[in-house]
Amino acid sequence: MKDGFGREINYIRISLTDRCNLRCVYCMPDGVRLVPREEILREDEIALIVRALAQLGICHVKITGGEPLVRSCCRGLIRQIRGIDGIQTVTLTTNGILLPERIDWLKESGIDGVNISLDTTDPKRYAQITGGGDVSKAIDAVHACVKAGIRTKINAVTMRTDNEDLLAFAKDEPVDVRFIEMMPIGYGKQFRPVDNRKVLEEIMRVHPGTEPDLSLHGPGPAVYYRIPGYQGSAGFISAIHGKFCGSCNRIRLTSMGFLKTCLCYDEGTDLREIVRDPKLSDADRCGKIREAAGAAILHKPAAHCFDEPGEITERHLMASIGG
Ligand code: SAM
Ligand code: SF4
Repeated sequence: MKDGFGREINYIRISLTDRCNLRCVYCMPDGVRLVPREEILREDEIALIVRALAQLGICHVKITGGEPLVRSCCRGLIRQIRGIDGIQTVTLTTNGILLPERIDWLKESGIDGVNISLDTTDPKRYAQITGGGDVSKAIDAVHACVKAGIRTKINAVTMRTDNEDLLAFAKDEPVDVRFIEMMPIGYGKQFRPVDNRKVLEEIMRVHPGTEPDLSLHGPGPAVYYRIPGYQGSAGFISAIHGKFCGSCNRIRLTSMGFLKTCLCYDEGTDLREIVRDPKLSDADRCGKIREAAGAAILHKPAAHCFDEPGEITERHLMASIGG
């Protein structure tokens, strides 16, 4: 469906859990407030919500977190969502630490793509950023996905302009390496974002002949560039220095069932109370979810306000929102 500004809303990011096995400095360095399990949506509740939203035109689903692979229902959920009428792609965003041991079921689940978060290949620096993570596991995750024939992307929060170590993944395999500008959400507020335009300048300096890649890489806001001799592309998600709100197509579902319509505002609607209303049948729940989500989408804000941090009303951490 279209929102109040005529944008087609067809993509949802679903956070399965706020919990994570890493502690990234810009996300949740001290962990998260643990909420009782019963407050978190169950697999069947999430599937019902997706079924209802698919009837509104949502066709691309990203499973995220926290770390989605720490939740055992991840496997079943991917399969269920892939089977829902109208859903065209289901993809996963993960830090990759648990991925190698789950690669077989991930492949079997029919996942359409996996994004692995990896900001650096330097073991010491990776451990500093992630609160003690072992970079070799994240690197193994990239190789395992590629070997399994799963479309693989690397997501790096932009921390520096020289990223040749990450771009090396794109050289011989069709792995896109995407740079995400730091956003002033939660702990991200403590960092000065590195400008993605500087990263591109550096890539063009090191790789003359780098040029825009206009082929479609997915339903997201990344802008891509092809590097001569490389199989994968460099992608840029530049929320700060390349605002893309005019073409925003997304909504977000938190692990507690709140449907968020914009990353930086605490706006949206609570779908958990509908999905748990004991007086309703599943068909009625679907209808009420469509109604509530449709109204929220119509009021989706025009744009984020990262340039006016005082106006940001979102108080949750990125781990709760799902990135
Ligand atoms: N744990 C998974 C992972 O790391 O991929 C999924 C959840 S994580 C919140 C999703 C994405 O958000 C990651 O790529 C992470 O780097 C990014 N992220 C977290 N905090 C951010 C911030 N303040 N600004 C920009 N991106 C951020
Ligand atoms: Fe965990 Fe992902 Fe947040 Fe890092 S960015 S702490 S891996 S949820």
